[in-house]
Amino acid sequence: MTDMSYVDGNMLDGPLRELFAVDLSSATGRCESCGTVGPMARLHVYSHAPGLVGRCPACTEVMLRLVRSPDRAWLDLRGATFLEVPMPLDQPHPRPL
Ligand SMILES: [Zn+2]
Repeated sequence: MTDMSYVDGNMLDGPLRELFAVDLSSATGRCESCGTVGPMARLHVYSHAPGLVGRCPACTEVMLRLVRSPDRAWLDLRGATFLEVPMPLDQPHPRPL
């Protein structure tokens, strides 16, 4: 990688909103590599790859990859142990079986 510039994870809002009905930029994620927990909006996002690459701000390991083609998208979250997504209280949620 020759260009090390990045933007913050807020730029993921539009691309991820296309896939999910929730705002994942307001989600909290845990880095699989170093265990840091923080807002996905703080990821360092590199957009110079064939897609978007979100790196942990603490250890720089990849937490998220998003590649978009005209008719599909690939989301790789294997660098994140979990995502915690805030949900509106006024919307119905699935009942346990
Ligand atoms: Zn990390």
